[in-house]
Amino acid sequence: MKVLVPVKRVLDFNLKVRVKPDGSGVDLSNLKMSINPFCEIAVEEAVRMKEGGGGHTAGAAKEVVAVSIGPEQAQETLRNALAIGADRGILVKADGEVEPLAVAKILKAVVEAEKPDIVILGKQAIDDDASQTGQMLAALLDWPQATFASRIVLQDGKATVTREVDGGLQTLDVDLPAIITTDLRLNEPRYASLPNIMKAKKKPIDVKAPTDFGVDVTPRLKVLKTAEPGKRQAGVKVKSAAELVGKLKEAGVL
Ligand code: AMP
Repeated sequence: MKVLVPVKRVLDFNLKVRVKPDGSGVDLSNLKMSINPFCEIAVEEAVRMKEGGGGHTAGAAKEVVAVSIGPEQAQETLRNALAIGADRGILVKADGEVEPLAVAKILKAVVEAEKPDIVILGKQAIDDDASQTGQMLAALLDWPQATFASRIVLQDGKATVTREVDGGLQTLDVDLPAIITTDLRLNEPRYASLPNIMKAKKKPIDVKAPTDFGVDVTPRLKVLKTAEPGKRQAGVKVKSAAELVGKLKEAGVL
């Protein structure tokens, strides 16, 4: 079984986002970029399918391929996936913002070339919070999808996926090939060890362009304005429960 894992390069989640003074977007200059955390969880799950662990039998997956669509520096994101244990990478070089539909179209072409049994994506990229790519890819391929997975069990050409939904846990069976997107509690990604970081430097990365797949990545959406969230007002300390109840009544909460 082959697993394809799309990984996105995003602003590191520890950093505070700075909006450009002209409101045209977010200022990414000189800031640390990292692998999207949900993509890291996706790579970890795929590697466990290969190595065993997390309920998977070692050897369930024979090969894990990571793919990233982004600038030259997205190679670093791929190296990160390779250091966790992916076998090889594909960089589809594109500068500027590539919208989820264009990403999904490129991924569809990669899937047709690579023929994976499962594509595991993050449930969302923390930069645009679109949460669209996996769903669009499933629609374009006409494959079943199980989104927001908190547990995956592979058996008999099927994946049994547990999803965290409002009312509790939902369990779905999807026939392979399928699209799965990862939720936060699926696993805790490992820290890549130094030897594995060194090994990752030698793993192959194939470099492509969107035109190789016949995909036009020109944005279809126009950003009208980007603004900082409004400042929160300072809280008030109360001296007693009675005062708290009074304040809540004043605010119309009680
Ligand atoms: P989004 O739909 O943008 O919230 O992203 C959801 C998931 O789609 C991410 O966690 C990645 O697995 C995948 N994805 C989105 N954009 C890219 C990209 N440029 N390169 C590779 N994978 C991507």
